[in-house]
Amino acid sequence: MRRFLALLALCILAAGAHAAGKPVNAYFRETWTTREGLPHNQVNAIAQTPDGYLWFGTWEGLVRYNGLEFHVIDRRNTPALRDNGIRSIRVAPDGALVIGTSRGGVSVLRKGAWRTYGKRDGLAQDEVMDAVLDAKGRLWVATESAGMTRIDADGRAHQYNQATGLPTNITFGLVRDRDDTVWLSSAAGVVRFVGDKAPVVYNEDDGLPDAPIFHLEQMADGTLYAGTERGAYRRVGERFELVSTTLPADGVPSLVRDNAGDLWVGTINHGLLRLGADGTLDNLSSQKGLPNNRVAALFVDREGSLWAGTNAGLLRLRDAPFTTFNTEQGLSDDYVRAIVQGRDRSIWIGTSRGLNRWKDGKVVDVLTSADGLPGDSILSLLAENDDSLWVGTYVGGLLRLRDRKVVEHYDTASGLPGSNQIRALAHGLDGSLWIGTSRGLVQMKDGKFRLFGSAAGLPRDFVLALHVARDGAVWVGTANGAARVVDERVEPIDLHRMNDAQDVFDFHEDGDGTVWIATDRGLVRYRNGQVASIGLAQGLPIDTLFQVVDDQAGSLWLTSNRGVLRVARRDAEAVLAGKQRTVNPDQFGEPDGLASSQANGGSGPAAIRDAQGRLWVATARGAAMVDPTVLHSYRRQLAPVVIEQVIADDRELPAQAKLVLPPGTRKLEFHYAGLSFQMPRLLRYRYRLEGVDAGWNERGNQRVAQYTNLGPGKYRFLVSSSAPGLGQGWNPDATALEIEIQPQVWQNAWFMAACMAAIALLVFFYIRWRTRSLRVRAIELERVVEERTRDLREQTSRLLVADEEKTRLLHQLQDKSEAFERQAREDALTGLQNRRSLDEGLARAYEAAVRTQQPLSFALLDIDNFKRINDEYSHAAGDEALREVARVLLESLNHDALLARWGGEEFAVLFPATTLDQARARCETARAAIEALNCDAFAPGWRMTLSGGVCDRTGFAHHERLVRRADQLLYEAKRAGRNRIVG
Ligand code: GH3
Ligand code: MG
Ligand code: MG
Repeated sequence: MRRFLALLALCILAAGAHAAGKPVNAYFRETWTTREGLPHNQVNAIAQTPDGYLWFGTWEGLVRYNGLEFHVIDRRNTPALRDNGIRSIRVAPDGALVIGTSRGGVSVLRKGAWRTYGKRDGLAQDEVMDAVLDAKGRLWVATESAGMTRIDADGRAHQYNQATGLPTNITFGLVRDRDDTVWLSSAAGVVRFVGDKAPVVYNEDDGLPDAPIFHLEQMADGTLYAGTERGAYRRVGERFELVSTTLPADGVPSLVRDNAGDLWVGTINHGLLRLGADGTLDNLSSQKGLPNNRVAALFVDREGSLWAGTNAGLLRLRDAPFTTFNTEQGLSDDYVRAIVQGRDRSIWIGTSRGLNRWKDGKVVDVLTSADGLPGDSILSLLAENDDSLWVGTYVGGLLRLRDRKVVEHYDTASGLPGSNQIRALAHGLDGSLWIGTSRGLVQMKDGKFRLFGSAAGLPRDFVLALHVARDGAVWVGTANGAARVVDERVEPIDLHRMNDAQDVFDFHEDGDGTVWIATDRGLVRYRNGQVASIGLAQGLPIDTLFQVVDDQAGSLWLTSNRGVLRVARRDAEAVLAGKQRTVNPDQFGEPDGLASSQANGGSGPAAIRDAQGRLWVATARGAAMVDPTVLHSYRRQLAPVVIEQVIADDRELPAQAKLVLPPGTRKLEFHYAGLSFQMPRLLRYRYRLEGVDAGWNERGNQRVAQYTNLGPGKYRFLVSSSAPGLGQGWNPDATALEIEIQPQVWQNAWFMAACMAAIALLVFFYIRWRTRSLRVRAIELERVVEERTRDLREQTSRLLVADEEKTRLLHQLQDKSEAFERQAREDALTGLQNRRSLDEGLARAYEAAVRTQQPLSFALLDIDNFKRINDEYSHAAGDEALREVARVLLESLNHDALLARWGGEEFAVLFPATTLDQARARCETARAAIEALNCDAFAPGWRMTLSGGVCDRTGFAHHERLVRRADQLLYEAKRAGRNRIVG
C-alpha cells in the first residue's frame, strides 16, 4: 500500500513538473552503450521489477541495472539461460521475470531461481518473440514462425497455429489484459484469447492495416495500442483506428505513454516521436542525440523517466524542471558566462567561444571573432534600450553591437583605462556606463573615461560585480570585499565581520532598498546600513554563492558550484530576525536537468529572471532555464534500497526474505543499492545489524557491509538511504533482512547444563588438591616476604639520602634566584639601588606620606661635567669616580635618606618624613662633601662638583610630578653655573 501511494505521489509530481510544449530535445538526456558496460548496443526489451531493478534485454544477455552498474546475466554465468539473445522481458503478476530468447525458449526467474521452458516442455519452437505469465500461472509464448504455445501451471501445453485458427504462424507480441484475456499480435492481425473460448481475430476489416502488427501495449487507462508496420493504432470499442494522421506511416516496434499523458512512439526509420495529449507532434532523431533511429523498446520507469532501447545504445529522457541549452542545441560553446535579455525578448548567451542569440526555443544566431568580435570569450553583457548590446570580453575590451555589427569598441589601446578584461557592466543613473575590469572600475561618461582603482579606495582592482542602486550609488563587488561609489567617492563596505566574506559576486536590490549580496561566505543582507548574513550555520549547504535572483514568487534563487538553491524569502527574513534557526533551501542539481551543477560567477550577469518569469543560469555545461511556476510541488522521493547480495563465510546465498544459516557461520557480507536511476551517485547509506550494532553505521556511498565473528542467534540487517546533496534526509523506511545463525551442538542450552555439572565436579576436586599444596606454599612465602622486607628497608634509606640531596639543591636554587632578584634592583657599578627600585620605593613612600600626612622630599643630583672625566682621563676613571661619588654621598647623607643611581652620572635621593628645608640642607652637606673629595687616585687634578634640585611633595598630586620638578630644579642649578643645590 505504501509503495502504491509513493508511486501515485510520484506520478502526480511528475505530471506537475511537466512543462507543456517543452521540445523533446530540451529533455534531460543520457545515453549508455557498451562503453558504459552494456554487453551489446542493441536493447530489445526493458522492464522494471517490483523491487525496483531495471532490466534490459540485449543480443548478448540480460542486464540488471541498479542505477550504477550493469549486471550481465548470460549463458556463461547462468546455464539456465539457453541463449544470450533476449527478445522480451515481462514481469508476471507475482513479480517473476519472464524472459523470451531468440533461440533458447523462455526462462522464468522467480525468487532467485531459474526455470526454462523449451521444445521439451511443449513449446512449438525455441525461437521466441514474446512471452507472458498470467495470474493463473499460465505461460503464453509467441514464437517466430510456429504460432503460439500456452503452457499451463500443471505443465500441459496447448498449441495455437494456422491449423487451429490463427491467421498466421508468424507471431510477434503479447499483452496480458487487465481482465486476464490475452492479446497476440501477428503478421496478419491481432488475436484475442478470452478464457477457453475460440480466439477472436482483428484485421483490416476491423480498422487495422494490412500489415504485420509488431507490438501491443496496454496503457494505464486500459486502452490497447498496436504498433504496426504502418503506424500506431488504438483500440476503440471493437475496432482499431489510426492514433494520429500526423504520425509517419513508419514501422512501430514500441509504444508507451508517459505520466504526463503524452504518447511516445518508437519507429524503425523516424526515431522517437512524441504525440502530445494536445495532438502536437515532436521528435528526437539521431541528428538530435538519439543513438539510432530504430527504437525497439520504450519504457517509463517508476521515477517517470522514459527509457528507449535503440540499435546503438540505451537512452533516457527526463522532463526535468531545468532545461539546459548547450552545444547539442546549437550553442557555440558549453561554457556559459553571461546571460541577458534584449528588448526584443531574445536571450543573449555569452560563452567562452562566441555570443549566441536564443529566441523561441532555439539558438538563432551565433557571433564570434569571425563576425568581427574582438574576442571569442565573452565575460559580460548589458542590453541597451535601443536594441544594441554592450559586450565585455576576456581579452578584447568592450564593444557595442547593433544589428550584428560592432558599432563601438574600446580597449586599452584606444584609451580605456583599467584592462581589456571586462567582467561587469551597469548603467549609471546619469547616463554614464560603468565598466568593471580586472584592473579597476571605469566610468564612461560623454565619451570620457574615469578610473576608480585601489588608489581611489576600491578594496581591490579586480571587479566581479556591479549594481547601480535606485539612489544612484554604484555597488562594486571585488575579489576583496565590496564598496559603493557615491558622488564619485568610494566608500568601502565592511564585510569582514560577515563570516569574513571576501569575494563579492552579485548584488540584488529589493524595492525597499535592501541589497542582497552573494559572497564566498554566504548571502549577506544590507538594510539601512546594517549587514547580516546567512551561511553554512544557517542551513545553506554551500556558502560560495555567485548570483541572487528574485523569482518574484517569494523566493531568492542562489547559484553555486553545487547547483542552484531556492531560499524562501520568508525563511531568510525569519533567520535574520533570529526567529528561525535555518533557511531549509531546495537544492537543484544534475538530477533536476541542470546539465552541470557547476554554475558560473564572477562575470555576468550569470543568472537572470527574464521578462516571461523564467530563470536562466550560466553553467559550465550550458545555459540552464527553469520556470519557477512549475516547481511549486516539486519534491523528490527516495528510492528503496535493495539488498543485492548476501555472502556468508564467502558463500553467496540466494536472495530470500529470511535467512537461516548453518551452525558455525561467522562472517556476513551484505551488498545493497538504492534503486534510484535519477540520482544514484548522490545516495548515501547507513546500515545496522540488530543484535550487533547499537546504532546506525553511516558509510557514505559505500554499498557493502561486513560483519565477522558472529555467534549463533537472531539478527536483523537494516539499510536505508539519504541524498544530502539534494536536501533529502534519511529514508525512515529501512529495508530489512532477518537472519538466524543456528547454534552448534555445544551452543545449545542442554549441552551447556551438562558442561556446567562436569565443570562443578572438576572444580571441587581441584580445590581439594589446591588447599593441600597451598599449605606448603605458605611456608615458602613467609621466607620470601622476610627477604623482600629487608630489601625494601635498604631501598628506603637510599631514597632518604637522595631526598636530602634534592633539598640541598633546592636551597641553592633559591639563593640564586634571590641574587637575581637583588641584581634586578641594584646598580652593579655602585651597589646602590637602581632607578627601578627607587621608583617603586618613591611610589610607596609617596602614598604613605599622603596617608599619614607626613612631609616627603626628593632630590636629583648630577655630577658636573662628568663627560670630561671620561674624555680626559679614561672610562675606567669615570667608573671609579662614580663609585667614589656614590660612597661619599652615602656617607654624607643621613641613613634614613634613600640613595639610588638614577642613571649615568645622576643620583636620586628620597627623604622620607623630611621637609624641604631639611632636605635642602642635607643635599648642601652632600654637595660640600663631594667638592672636598680628593680625586688624585683616579683623576689627578680633577675637582669634583655636583649640582642638585630638591623639592617636597606639597602641591604635587603624583610622585612622578615630584620627580619632574626635581629635574627642572636640577636643570636650573646647571644653568646658574653648576656646583649648587636649587630648591
Ligand atoms: P653636566 O654638567 O651638564 O651634567 O655635564 P656632564 O658631562 O656631566 O653631562 P652629560 O649628560 O653631557 O654627560 C654624562 C656622561 O656620563 C656621558 C656618559 O658617557 C657618562 N657616563 C654615564 N654612565 C657612565 C658610566 O657608568 N661610566 C662612565 N665611565 N661614564 C658614564
Ligand atoms: Mg647628566
Ligand atoms: Mg653631569
